[in-house]
Amino acid sequence: MILSSGGVEAYIGLGSNLDNPVEQVSRARQAIAALPGVAEIACSPLYRSLPVGPQDQPDYINAVMRIATELPPLDLLSQLQQIENQHGRKRIVRWGARTLDLDLLLYGQQIINEPTLIVPHQELAKRGFVLYPLADVAVADMQIPGLGSLSELLQACPADGLHKIAA
Ligand code: AMP
Repeated sequence: MILSSGGVEAYIGLGSNLDNPVEQVSRARQAIAALPGVAEIACSPLYRSLPVGPQDQPDYINAVMRIATELPPLDLLSQLQQIENQHGRKRIVRWGARTLDLDLLLYGQQIINEPTLIVPHQELAKRGFVLYPLADVAVADMQIPGLGSLSELLQACPADGLHKIAA
């Protein structure tokens, strides 16, 4: 979709470890790009990562999308949650297996602290499977509100167990 206003740049983390995760992430990417008021700018390669939390679950497939959007942040979150639900999200255990997890990582330079939405995403600085694909698509010298530069966050976060699997 072409946005008449340019919109705000936002970054979305995609993850799946059930029901053909590569396809889950690819279909979610298409669904996000097709949302009214959203235009995809770039999508990172797919990465395979080790699960966080319970280890008796499959590896994850992760990617990060960079979009321009005219949707306000809570509307964008609601659209992402609808896509999660449409894609048959299943999750019983905290940090347990899920068919699709969509996180709003960044929304322009905004810091958001709403009951249902915290941006930058709370786990962003700790997670290699977010930071490395984010760096693939981010603007150069990206500054993350409240957290500093992306390059410093990357230096502090080893890429253990993270493998790029596809362009
Ligand atoms: P999770 O399934 O672990 O990603 O958590 C989903 C819950 O996190 C939802 O209830 C959201 O309202 C809340 N949440 C808070 N901040 C964010 C964010 N930046 N992106 C996605 N979900 C968020």
